[in-house]
Amino acid sequence: MKITRIITHVLEAPIEKSFAFSQAWVDKRVGLVVEIETDSGLIGWGDGYGPPFALATVIDRYYAPRLIGRSPLAGDAIWEELYNALRDHGQRGVPVQALSALDIALWDLRGKALGQPVHVLMGGPIRDSVRAYATGLYRRSNTPVENRALLQAEAEGYLDAGFTAMKTKVGFGFRDDIELVEMLRDIIGREIELFVDANHGCDLVQAKKLALAMEPLDIGWFEEPVEPEDLDGYAELRRTTSIPIAGGECSFTRHDFRRILEARAMDIIQPDTASCGGLTEAKRIADMAWTHGVRYQPHVWGTGIGLAAAMQLLAVLPTTTPAFGSHAPLLEYDSTQHPFRQDLLVEPIRVADGTAHVPQGPGLGVEVRRDVLERWRVN
Ligand code: CA
Repeated sequence: MKITRIITHVLEAPIEKSFAFSQAWVDKRVGLVVEIETDSGLIGWGDGYGPPFALATVIDRYYAPRLIGRSPLAGDAIWEELYNALRDHGQRGVPVQALSALDIALWDLRGKALGQPVHVLMGGPIRDSVRAYATGLYRRSNTPVENRALLQAEAEGYLDAGFTAMKTKVGFGFRDDIELVEMLRDIIGREIELFVDANHGCDLVQAKKLALAMEPLDIGWFEEPVEPEDLDGYAELRRTTSIPIAGGECSFTRHDFRRILEARAMDIIQPDTASCGGLTEAKRIADMAWTHGVRYQPHVWGTGIGLAAAMQLLAVLPTTTPAFGSHAPLLEYDSTQHPFRQDLLVEPIRVADGTAHVPQGPGLGVEVRRDVLERWRVN
């Protein structure tokens, strides 16, 4: 089997009601889907998390020419070659995100060629279902009264849907943040897990103040409190609060995560499979995290293809640590408005009673709807 063609699909869709995290208002959803064709007729699908036009350019101009005529089964060799091809100019960021999309598509192809789901080829399954948490509860209005009402209804909706864990956004200033988190804890009660995410919208002083104020609210983790470059800040915050400190969605490859783990900067690392170097690299990082006794909680923010890749990884993430009461990783389930995240799949990955099941078909275990791909394609 040989690779014959690589197609990049840049997708964009406006959303009706924008929402905000600490950095910006979101008014459209974007995605980069990559398609690898082979002379066998099999097609591999991948998803890249990053600026889609930039990812498409790197793939089209720099990576694709190296892949034509190659066997898609030689995944590790291809990974090393592509990483090395742009190593001098991109050890993190866009080049690694573009590599991630291709790596996921290669795993999909390998699974289809061998008739096995990716997680079986990766040595699993360790688990075939995963508890999900709802990612949502973004700012939805600049009018505080209206915003509180919208978020209250949203949180109640997640409870009604059966979620046992959810995540909200902080980084809007101390008063706003603490009032929001107190309100949500009141609404959802003590049995439901609650996580907060600042998207590196705090400096260390703000992060410490917020963490200490949130101590009585039983927060499951405080995500991206400070800038991803500031590992010393992470480590200092981690020693200041009992709230577990999480981060890593803006970090790349084993090299970044080695530094994070050695600095004891985080309790929970959150590589994004479609950004950190693909399934190949995510599994390597997971093994490093296990070795350091650090939890791995994948970041997921892409199309249904990325979601499927995350599920395949979740099926094989090591348990920390094996015991009757051992902790299992959660699926991050993006519950915000997204016109094509789920529509893109013939059979979307759904959460029911707070749980998602690992796709069991060959490769990523999902089929892509071409009509949806064409509808939102902008390149
Ligand atoms: Ca995040």
